[in-house]
Amino acid sequence: MHELTGLEPGTRFRCAGCGNLTRFDIETTERVRRFWHVDLAGEGRIDEEEREVTVEAVTCRWCGTGARVEVVDVPGAGTASSASERV
Ligand SMILES: [Zn+2]
Repeated sequence: MHELTGLEPGTRFRCAGCGNLTRFDIETTERVRRFWHVDLAGEGRIDEEEREVTVEAVTCRWCGTGARVEVVDVPGAGTASSASERV
């Protein structure tokens, strides 16, 4: 999910205009490179896939604008992830 939203783990979007934390339109461009393995009969399958996602715009569903959308830490996530890294 983080790959698709452009967020780092432990962060989330927040609209400073209305306080929205949960409803956003996230517009992305995705570039996918696939290694197609095709047999002699012409049947193919994908052996490898690399995806590159670029977030173009994040818009608050409530305000209808992305002007005040910011990235903030998820409460408690910082301590939880640093604790699990040490294990
Ligand atoms: Zn908003």
